[in-house]
Formats: sequence, C-alpha cells, structure tokens
Amino acid sequence: MPHRTRTDSRMLLRRLRDLLAQGNPGQERLDRITTLIAESMHADVCSVYLMRDADTLELCATEGLRPDAVHRTRLRIGEGLVGKVARLARAINTPDAPSQPGFRYMPETGEEVFSSFLGVPIQRLGERLGVLVVQTRDARQFSDDAVYGLEVVAMVLAEMTELGAFVGNGTEIPSPHKHQAVLRGITAQEGEAEGHVWLHQPRVVITNLVNDDSHAEVARLQDAVETLRVSVDDMLASAAARDKEQSEVLQTYRMFAHSRGWLKRMEQDIRLGLSAEAAVEKEQSEARARLETVPDTYLRDRLHDLDDLSNRLLRILTGQGNETGAEMPERPILVARNIGPGELMEYGRKLRGVVLEEGAVGSHATIVARALAIPLVINVPRITTEALNGDHILVDGTEGVVHLRPDDSVSSAFRDKMAMQAKAQERYAGLRDKPAKARCGTVVTLKMNAGLMADLPSLPSSGADAVGLFRTELQFLLRDKMPKRSELVANYARVLDAAKGKTVHFRTLDIGSDKVMPYMNRPDEPNPAMGWRALRVGLDKPGVLRMQLQALIRAAQGRPLSVMFPMVAQASEFDRARAILMREIARERRLGHVLPADVKIGAMLETPSLAYAPKSFFQQVDFLSIGGNDLKQFFFAADRENELVRRRYDTLSLSFLTFLQHIVDRCHSAGTALSFCGEDAGRPVDALALAGIGIAALSMRPASIGPVKSMIRRANLNEVSEIIARAQRRGLDSARPALLEYVASLP
Ligand code: PEP
Ligand code: MG
Repeated sequence: MPHRTRTDSRMLLRRLRDLLAQGNPGQERLDRITTLIAESMHADVCSVYLMRDADTLELCATEGLRPDAVHRTRLRIGEGLVGKVARLARAINTPDAPSQPGFRYMPETGEEVFSSFLGVPIQRLGERLGVLVVQTRDARQFSDDAVYGLEVVAMVLAEMTELGAFVGNGTEIPSPHKHQAVLRGITAQEGEAEGHVWLHQPRVVITNLVNDDSHAEVARLQDAVETLRVSVDDMLASAAARDKEQSEVLQTYRMFAHSRGWLKRMEQDIRLGLSAEAAVEKEQSEARARLETVPDTYLRDRLHDLDDLSNRLLRILTGQGNETGAEMPERPILVARNIGPGELMEYGRKLRGVVLEEGAVGSHATIVARALAIPLVINVPRITTEALNGDHILVDGTEGVVHLRPDDSVSSAFRDKMAMQAKAQERYAGLRDKPAKARCGTVVTLKMNAGLMADLPSLPSSGADAVGLFRTELQFLLRDKMPKRSELVANYARVLDAAKGKTVHFRTLDIGSDKVMPYMNRPDEPNPAMGWRALRVGLDKPGVLRMQLQALIRAAQGRPLSVMFPMVAQASEFDRARAILMREIARERRLGHVLPADVKIGAMLETPSLAYAPKSFFQQVDFLSIGGNDLKQFFFAADRENELVRRRYDTLSLSFLTFLQHIVDRCHSAGTALSFCGEDAGRPVDALALAGIGIAALSMRPASIGPVKSMIRRANLNEVSEIIARAQRRGLDSARPALLEYVASLP
C-alpha cells in the first residue's frame, strides 16, 4: 500500500489550486479534479457527488467509473455508502465495501470491481454539499493521513461549489445555494414582507485556500489566536463586573480560545497545505456538522460559542470587519443569528423584515421590531448559513415561515396575499375617522399600545382614541446606562406633544421577568415571571420609580397626566404606589413647579388575585387595565414565553371569559373605568368577545385597530353576548367555534 505523506497532500493541494486558477469551464474542471485526486491518491476511482436537492445526491464527475453514469446516477441521503457519508457527515473508510452494511451496488457505474472505499463529506459551515469518494480494486485500508488529506481536499472543493463554479454541457451542476428553501420558525411580529437578504454579519470571504509556506502560515495562525485570546480576556474583564450571564458565555469562549486541541487541529490542517483561514473554516464546518446531530441544548449552545469564536478568528486573519463595502440591497430583510435592540433601532424602518436564527418572543429586539412594525420571524434554523447577501426572500411573519430564493409560483402566491392585505388596509384606512360602533349601537373605545417615540406617528394614522398603554420600560431597556431624569422629562414631553391632547396612559417601569436592564443588578431567580418584577421592584427600591414619577409630572407641564402601575397583586400595593406619587406631586408643588392639570391613577390587573380585591380598591382606582398577556399566563399557569404551552389555552375558553366577566361586574358595580390592553385585544374575534362581555375599551397595536374596528362595526354585541352565554350554558370549553360561525355569517 503506497504510504501517503504530508508532502503528497501539499502537492495535491498546490496542483488543485493551479488547476482552479486556470478558469476552465465547470464540468471540465471538475473532471480534471477527479483525475488529479485519483492520480495523487494512487486510486482507481475518484468521484464527486453533489446535492441535487435537499435529499438527493448526484454523481457529477468521476475518474474510473463509467462516464455515462455522470449526471444519471442518483442516491438518496442515507442510501448506500455515499448516502451514508452525507447523512453522518463523517468519513467512511473500508477495505471491503461490498461487505459493509448499507452497501448499495449501482450497476450503471461499473463499480462492482472495486473493493476499497473512502468517502468524505463535502460540507461548508455545516451545510451538506456532497461527497468525495476514492475507490481501489485492491482491498486497501486508507491511512488516517489519507483520510485527513482527502478531507482537506473536500474543504477546498466546498469553497468551489460555494462559488457555483461547475457548469458543463449546458447542465448546471447543482450549487446548493441556488435552491429555494422553506424555513420554519416562530412568529415574533406579524406581517408579510418581500425583499433581499442583508446579512447583519456577512460571512468572511476567503480567497486564499492553499498556503505556500506552512511554517509562516502556522505562525500567522498562532498570532491571530493570541490576538483573539487577548480580546476575549479583555471582554471578560469588562463583563465580569457587570453581567453574570455574559461573563459565563465569555468564560466558555475563553476555554475554547485556549483549547490546545482546537489550535492543534488547525495547525495540522495548515501543515497539509491549507491556508490559516481555510483551516479555521474547516474546523468550523466540522463543528457545525456535529452541531446538527447533538440533541443536548447546552452542548449545542457551546458549539455555537465555538462558531462565534471561529468567526472572530476569521475576521482577525482576514482583516474583514462587518463592513464589506457592499451596498444594502433594495427592500432589505435583515438576517442574523441574533441582534441587540440598539442595533435593530439603528437599522430602523429601512428594514422590511427581520429573520433570526435565535431570538425570543419577549426579547428586546422583538420589542423593537414590534414598535417599528417590522415582520419578524425568530428561531429559524440555519438561516444564517443558507442565506447569502442579496438573495430574494419572502418573510411570512404571520405564519412564521421564510421562503428563501422562492420560485415564481411561490412568489406570485405570496404577492397575491400581500396585495389582498394591502387592499384590506385601504379599507381599514377608510374607517379611520369612523367610530367602532357595533350594529346594536354600542361604541367601543379603541386605543393603541406604544413604548417608543417611534410609535407615536401611528396615533393619528391608526385612528386610535388614545394611547391605552405606554410601556415606559422600553426606553430603559434600549440603553446601556440608566437614563437621567432630565432625559426622561424630555422624552415624556415629546410623547405628550406628539399625542396632541389625546390621553397617554403611562405605565411605570415594568422590569424584571423577560425585561432585563443590563445596567441594573438583578438577583438570580428560579422563576422570574413570578418573581421580583414591575411594581414589586418599584416599592422595594423606590428610587427609580420616584425619579420616573417626577419626570412624568414635569413633562405634563400643566397638561393632564395618566399613570398606571403594573402587576398590582393586592390593594395595599396600589395604595403604597399611589402614596409615592402623591408625595412626589406635593414635592413638585413645594418646589414651585407647574403641576399637571389633572392626575388619573390606575392599575393593571395582571394577577387573578386583584379581581378579588376589596370593593374599596375598585372605588379608589381611577381606572383598571387588564394586562391580558400576564393575566392569562397566571390564570392558566402557562408561561407566555414558552412555546410548548403558550398557545395551549384559548382566550375564548369559557373559564377565562367567565373570570373576565367577574372583573367587568366588579368594575360596573364600583363605577370603575375598565380597559383591556393585552395582545388579544388586537385579534378581531377575541376583541369582539371582550367587547361582548362588556369591556368598553380595548388597547392594541396600531396595525390591529383597523381590523378590530371593521369587525365590531359588522357585529351586534348583544348577539355576541348571547352566543357566549349559550356556550356557557351548554358547558363548552370555548366560545370560539360558535363565535367563528357567527363571524362567518356576518354580511
Ligand atoms: C400584559 O401583560 O398584557 C401587558 C399588556 O403587559 P406586558 O405585555 O408589557 O407585560
Ligand atoms: Mg404585563
């Protein structure tokens, strides 16, 4: 058996590079590559199989098998040894292929005479591109060096397929990046968008794959790794004092950055002839391939960390930052692993949509995307590796689906859907100045939810009567340090100016749970949604609450002011919060400042307990707003952030509606103004039911006002109320089916 040396591998890589540099047409080039590899490995056969579609491999070039099998022989992933290499994403090396389990003989190739088989995956950053195979007549066991050498060659090939380099005889050899892909994720902000991919962190482009001097190249890698280590240590030092979670992630980075195994493997790749960049990417590819098969989420996260670290190293080696000089395409759709709220704000309304590989329904970036009304789909696996800058992309934020490089039929169906929605929007715009008056004559007050200045322009255009919920914490969350009182005053004053006399219900800080301010120390809590959050923090540590209340009073400058406290669980908490506000008003008076013309003080009803507060509480509050998102999660004991349970219980279930009715009754008898400001208020059928049980004001995202108004104007709330009562009498789980039937029967 010929012994392969490192020099053989280096020679092969050099010859490959020269061949690539000649710029022959794709098929010819691929044919010559197989000849070159077969010759260099002293093998009788070398074949390249590439992915035709997501499950099929196609023989695209061969030296040694029958030429007429090229572009005819196809295999499924997992089928035969070649399919198995693709599925497992690792090498198979056997001296006696026919005796291997899973061996599948393909007569058209004439491969029956070959005994040994060595196949390695062709992959790039965890993406399956194909399989590279060598075979021999003699029963040869390829050495570890040979396996390794072939993997290095496969890495170079992967870069070529990436460039879509193979085109021959009018047959386009499949380039995986050109396929259309349908990727499913989770809806974080509804809406549809069509546009072109803009990668938040564009891939590093590697132009030199092969080195000329491995000593110098190893030294270059070592220097870069040293720079990386220093930068991770620096990041760690500055994070350690501030953020426990971030410093834990950085600790893992540090561990990888100092891992000798990682460095050693890359050095070995370089000694076989790869450039330092190609070596980093080869290890990164292999880690990504492993990531696909790891079920343990903790380990997967660690592999993600390694992936991030590799990207950093590549940027150090190539000197490429995120700025590639490329121009942002028209109608940009941002694609990223994850993004911070500040970065997303910077892109602002330029973006048509956002697709994230990670993300969370309640994350700050999601909050920003909502405020900007940009469709957002999160948890989309592999989007950052699948998408290339400029790719045509359709984002269906409502269904949580992304179509990458869609074909014409998908695009045109999608455009039809968008056109229908645009038409509906036009219809809704026509209703803007009309009241949400049901056929029975009842008028429902529709208000909008807001949280950033960016939301305010929607107040006149949506036709909302007021801002029913202004989430003040957003301004705190988007910053890296606590805002000053003067900044808050300026901000709230601008909000009131923009509202032009319409009421704005400012909710005091609702932090904790999923809303974490990076600059405030927070205890580790086993269950933060039920932990130290919102008003609980405000009452225990009133400094920030007081500052915020002072700012609100000053911003009002003689105008009416409406303040509501979040997560009030019992009457005494409201009493204490109100007392703080009254003290601040008295203080402002003493200081001689202009006081608000009128102050309304309300509470959010977000815990079932408050529905059973004493009558005096209902009489004392100026208004109550049901925070349905939280109330529902506590009522059903189903975490609003947990995909496994968050859709499990219906808002229109009779248990919940009966409970809401109880709240309506209590408010009625005490004469308390009541509104509902959870997400459900923006869903037309749900809104109808809420209005039907007597909730007279609903607050929702601006975009929902048109659809909700249109629904209410078509319906008769007495009929809605009767349908709910009937479902209740019949002992049904939910009133939804009957309400849907009713809605379908409306003119
Ligand atoms: C709610 O809980 O319904 C609510 C409106 O508040 P948030 O979604 O900000 O918790
Ligand atoms: Mg809430």
